[in-house]
Amino acid sequence: MHQEPLPQYLLSMTDAAIQTLLFDRRKKLKDRCIILGHHYQKDDVIIHADFVGDSLKLAKAATQYPDKQNIVFCGVHFMAETADILTSDKQRVALPELDAGCDMADMAKPADIEKAWHEVNALGIEHVIPVTYVNSSAAVKAFVGDHDGIVCTSGNADQIVRWALNRGQHVLFLPDQHLGRNVSKNVGLDPERDMLLWDPTKSLGGHNAENVKSSRVWLWKGHCPVHEEFTVAEIEDIRSRHPKMKIIVHPECSMAVCDLADAVGSTEKIIDTITSSPPGSEWAVGTEKNLVERLAKNLRDRTIVSLSPTPSVCSTMNKVTARHLAWILDELYQKNILRNQIKVEPAISASAKKALIRMMELS
Ligand code: SF4
Repeated sequence: MHQEPLPQYLLSMTDAAIQTLLFDRRKKLKDRCIILGHHYQKDDVIIHADFVGDSLKLAKAATQYPDKQNIVFCGVHFMAETADILTSDKQRVALPELDAGCDMADMAKPADIEKAWHEVNALGIEHVIPVTYVNSSAAVKAFVGDHDGIVCTSGNADQIVRWALNRGQHVLFLPDQHLGRNVSKNVGLDPERDMLLWDPTKSLGGHNAENVKSSRVWLWKGHCPVHEEFTVAEIEDIRSRHPKMKIIVHPECSMAVCDLADAVGSTEKIIDTITSSPPGSEWAVGTEKNLVERLAKNLRDRTIVSLSPTPSVCSTMNKVTARHLAWILDELYQKNILRNQIKVEPAISASAKKALIRMMELS
């Protein structure tokens, strides 16, 4: 399903007129619609969100408004799917731009995971616990749910991986190699001895049977293009020019970057850490550009810069614009039609929910 072109009347409106329309429609729809906004959205979208958070916080928020029939999710596809899975059948979830996907989630395809699973089964390997980062499709979460696995977030991944290692001999960690490597190291595993990188384009992920059997964690070869860009050289450069500046990065950054940073944390942890730091603090932040710029604007008594001189926005997340949001709200108001509904197929939803509920019960 691809995004249909926006109607001409919206395309010809000025940005200011779009904002006026959005404020009006929000007010008129407030009893039957809630807008959720991810931290990486642009300012002219996020100001219309009733609730702002990272992917897990927003999925939980969706469940806290059972009286709102319509949930408009300003984020990416997997987030809207998760909200649909966790909310009641009476609620509907819409994504303002259908092409807003997640590059990392797209790197784990269910058919490739099935193939990997068959390959390790053929070696007689048992007791494998699949763990998927919440940044994955509903179909991947369903695979994990059907194989006694679990979902994790960047905030609870240490706890979840520890749980999985206690239950199984091996963990298949999907789809982000960097988060998987960072948390497996945090829980005491050796990156060289206990982990291997599973390349889905190669037989047995590119390894021999002995290596697969002796590794505890198999890291799927996926990554976030936004966070993988941060480098050790950027940390060294900031440290040489601003010795007092603290460096905080997201665990989707590489292990070399995380090891050198002063702090590593999920989006919510980054926000909490900087917000609770004393005035005058200086921070270089290794995460998405819109969020860093918003923190700098809201906390003017601290110095907050990106770790990179050329930080990236999440290009897929930024496909959602104020104009797309206006289209969804206007159609809902004028015609009572919810455009761009994200509906996960019931069997997939039920299996994925098992993996999500396991995580929520644990953390
Ligand atoms: S920032 Fe990275 S992980 Fe997050 S939605 Fe964008 S591509 Fe996906």
